[in-house]
Amino acid sequence: MARSLYTASVTQEMSESVLPAAVLEAVHRVWGFDSLRPMQQRAIQAGIDGRDCLTVLPTGGGKSLCYQVPALVTGKVTIVASPLIALMRDQVRGLELNGYGAAALHSGVDPDEAREVITRAFDGSINLIFAAPERLVTGGFKTILASLNDAGRLGAIAIDEAHCISQWGHDFRPEFRRLKELRQVAPGIGIQAFTATATPRVQQDIVDQLGLRDPEILIGKFDRPNLTYRVQARSKAADQIAEAMRRHRSAGDGGGTIVYCLSRKDTESLAQDLIEHGLDADAYHAGLSEKKRESVENAFLNETLDVVVATVAFGMGIDRSNVRLVVHATMPKSIEAYQQETGRAGRDGEPAECLLLYSPSDAGRWERLIGFGAEESGADPAGQLRLIREMRSLIASMTCRHKALSEHFGQELEIDPENGCGACDVCLGETEIDRESVKVAQVLLSAVARTGQKYGAAHICDVVRGAKAEKITSRGHDELSVHGLLGGYTKAQLAMYLDQLISMGALERVVEDRFETIRFGETGMSVMKGIGDVVLANPIGTGSAKKERARGQKRREAVILDVDEKVVFERLRDLRTRIAREREVPPYVVFSDATLRELVKDRPTDRHAMLRVKGVGQAKLDSFGDAFLEALALDSGADSSKIRSQ
Ligand code: ADP
Ligand code: ZN
Repeated sequence: MARSLYTASVTQEMSESVLPAAVLEAVHRVWGFDSLRPMQQRAIQAGIDGRDCLTVLPTGGGKSLCYQVPALVTGKVTIVASPLIALMRDQVRGLELNGYGAAALHSGVDPDEAREVITRAFDGSINLIFAAPERLVTGGFKTILASLNDAGRLGAIAIDEAHCISQWGHDFRPEFRRLKELRQVAPGIGIQAFTATATPRVQQDIVDQLGLRDPEILIGKFDRPNLTYRVQARSKAADQIAEAMRRHRSAGDGGGTIVYCLSRKDTESLAQDLIEHGLDADAYHAGLSEKKRESVENAFLNETLDVVVATVAFGMGIDRSNVRLVVHATMPKSIEAYQQETGRAGRDGEPAECLLLYSPSDAGRWERLIGFGAEESGADPAGQLRLIREMRSLIASMTCRHKALSEHFGQELEIDPENGCGACDVCLGETEIDRESVKVAQVLLSAVARTGQKYGAAHICDVVRGAKAEKITSRGHDELSVHGLLGGYTKAQLAMYLDQLISMGALERVVEDRFETIRFGETGMSVMKGIGDVVLANPIGTGSAKKERARGQKRREAVILDVDEKVVFERLRDLRTRIAREREVPPYVVFSDATLRELVKDRPTDRHAMLRVKGVGQAKLDSFGDAFLEALALDSGADSSKIRSQ
């Protein structure tokens, strides 16, 4: 019974299914895609067969098609449980633009409209209904569900963001637990769960909590090759962010930037700093009025605002697909949170950057917050503190970030040993190796040993830096031979080195009663004896941008536009914004940046050719295909006149 989720997925990833021709035809007609990704094929097959299924695909992996397609081709109605009420409206509008009937039920829908939705579900004019989990388990909704099922109209139940069901995940929502009640209402109906982030433990929990029956488990490649991960020591956050943005500006895209801060106050002061750098930035946090928050969200979605400086409250409801840069101005509280938040970059599959600005004091800040929260709620903070430590080790470990992230989520990632991944600070050689690594490591280890392996990082740093504080002198630690030996280093730097020694196993962190001490780890003695390599490194700036281009391209070819093409691209973007305004949808819902780029490259001159461009389906072609064709034709006219005049 308890078969391993992971082996199941591996075998399934290898074999491909053969879907009915009608499926591909629908995918082409409605979405304008000419193929399905392997995981999509299998998930869609499971959906059509009415099987239970768990699909784990990273952000941008194409999960929505997995429940949209089966509903369409079976002609039935799929109920989608989603916690993201803010997104439902845009999702429904987007589907409608594709000529796909969908609706959402949430608090903003009045009873008359809700009745209308139910009528449409029965008469077959919609295939999807989005609703929040807590609404789905009300008595009233269960009755509707049962009669839809009796009428043979219910196709499947899809659960988006399914990791919310697990307390081992990073975003536990108790109301998700009740979703298994839907099984009693419609026992014969398949349940398909979707998530972007789930460790093997969370995957198992989703299966157990939902009571999935012999589910198909589909686990895609976790890695997101279009993202470049960078960690930099935080010095002047605003300068570092401005520099990162310049990297993207010079690439000539009009993408957005999200900067995450830990506190409301931080968002406001950093937004101010960025404005002083001449950037178009605004702050966002839960303490602002609803009106203000809405206006920031809309400006960002509609591409009239470049940078949002926010607490993590921002993002859950934001689906802008061309976010090119996500910055963490402070260390996030867990690797899961980091994954989720950086996941908002590059949803369109085009290259994007994730920049983490780190100071070892961040961990202390989190620990205080967690301790404070635990006192308030009486919860045990041990789990949260463990997540913080994992995040610190990820930062400290000087191994490829793509590899480290994949491994955290239980997947191996093959990296070219010579060139690295080409898309992280470590592989790009943006870290500076300390020439004195061995000596410094030995002094730190020796300080740990001589103080009796019972102090924390702060104390060890103070000793080797030669501090004369009472807590040092009273214990006689100022008389140790290591006292003051590393006086030339900052405390932050040494704290980072200690993290690195921990991540390589030379030291070990011990937590008791919330107090953290450091003792020798497995390889501690051999480092002391000078056996084997020890490399301590500092994150530095990104002086090696050239190298990145050389290597990065190997990883993910972006469609590069030349100067003339950029002009056309901008014209198409303007047109897209106009259409989006008229239809009251965000621009990306009209066409993605990738589709615009392909239009610029392909230059279709008639409707037939335009339909071949990825992302152009029949309904969109009918609604605004001509406008785009005209905008493209305008350009070829300009081009030929240029040629004539030369
Ligand atoms: P997720 O929900 O997994 O984050 P989405 O469903 O939003 O991902 O899809 C991410 C992007 O990939 C969207 O821009 C979507 O249009 C595109 N996409 C999805 N499936 C395909 C496909 N088969 N071919 C081309 N593009 C696709
Ligand atoms: Zn790498």
